[in-house]
Amino acid sequence: MKQLSFIKRSNGEYWVGDGFPVRNMFSYRDIASEISPFLLLDYAGPTEFPPTTQRLGVGQHPHRGFETVSIVFEGQVSHHDSMGVGGSIGPGDVQWMTAGAGIIHEEYHGDDYARTGGPFEMIQLWVNLPAKDKMTPPAYQGITRAQIPLQLLPNEAGVVRVIAGAYEGAQGPAKTFTPMNIWDMHLNAGGRASLMLPAGHTTAVFVIRGAVRVGDAHVVRTAELAVMQREGEQLLLEADTDSHVLLLNGAPLNEPVVGHGPFVMNSWEEIDQAIRDYHEGRFSAV
Ligand code: MN
Repeated sequence: MKQLSFIKRSNGEYWVGDGFPVRNMFSYRDIASEISPFLLLDYAGPTEFPPTTQRLGVGQHPHRGFETVSIVFEGQVSHHDSMGVGGSIGPGDVQWMTAGAGIIHEEYHGDDYARTGGPFEMIQLWVNLPAKDKMTPPAYQGITRAQIPLQLLPNEAGVVRVIAGAYEGAQGPAKTFTPMNIWDMHLNAGGRASLMLPAGHTTAVFVIRGAVRVGDAHVVRTAELAVMQREGEQLLLEADTDSHVLLLNGAPLNEPVVGHGPFVMNSWEEIDQAIRDYHEGRFSAV
């Protein structure tokens, strides 16, 4: 059975542009090897925005060497990128953007949401690419709520939305470069779940809301991340109250992680190259 390794709390709050008030839950600067293949998790909200005619968000910026995964729970996010891909995603939707060799994009509140305002809550997760795939062509997967299978847990313990990987035969729609499971879970108060996950892989439980016991009954609370030991295949979760949980599981890459701003590579030489390529216009414009 997987036991708790440690609990990670927020590194603090900051604004991404003027649209995303986030808590950084982890980054490759603090737990790079423990959390690999994941690099960073920013949790935006829960908050409320008033109606506005302004365009709130973050303007054109580059990425190279990894993937950004945006999961919207409340509100709406629009995206436009240098591949000419654009679109809005709303509650339950996911955008999975492979920056690979390089992309420039902008991220804003969706127009419909901005007009009405209201609750806002989302996650942006950065997923690392293995060294051999860091310069893969950029790609975009727009995943709608309807495409994400929803599987019931036994004994009315709750539900699992399978974004990536598989749970009990339900296959998540996201195409990934390395094996991983990303599950958006709702657990009912008193609900117990026994999940089978590969031994040796990273497993972390982010409690978005509620209180959940993991492994030998350590309680993990709202906005806390439980990083589990890699040994064992069985993960036990037991909800004290109705809880919303994001489960992250994946094969660790065991490669050097060197990041600078929006670039995450394997060496400083590659970071210098990324900065030069960006400033010399080798990332195409939006
Ligand atoms: Mn971005």
